[in-house]
Amino acid sequence: MDYAGYYKADGPERADRTQFISKTDYACTVDVCTWFTKMASDGEWEKIDAERIKLVIFMQDEGFLKEGKSGIDTLKNIGSTMLHELTHTIQGGRSEDIGSDCYGWKCVMNLHNPRNADTLAILGVALKVWSLGYYVDFYGTINPLSAA
Ligand SMILES: [Zn+2]
Repeated sequence: MDYAGYYKADGPERADRTQFISKTDYACTVDVCTWFTKMASDGEWEKIDAERIKLVIFMQDEGFLKEGKSGIDTLKNIGSTMLHELTHTIQGGRSEDIGSDCYGWKCVMNLHNPRNADTLAILGVALKVWSLGYYVDFYGTINPLSAA
């Protein structure tokens, strides 16, 4: 990257800043936007832990989930987003966003493609859920392993 040219291009020419950024065919890094980290910080860096899983199970039981979202979708956080993005890198296996807007449990279950980035991110969340004594059923609903 040509930092000198990039910063000199501030002002009316700002739109031309992209000419000072070199791009590779495959990413080795992930840029994290300020607004994204602020959003995670404002949410107090939500973790996937037993307390949060119990809250999501309550939301499932009471019908409080957002329309079209399952329990596992509700557990996604900055960690799962970072996992999604890192799978796009060379080191992460060069996954892709297959299809249009294929994010979330319902889409990845219909897609059945391990090359899709969100499939890998959802798998990460499901494994974390499982490590805490819960499982995800066909519909993306979180259940205690003791109920299986
Ligand atoms: Zn992606």
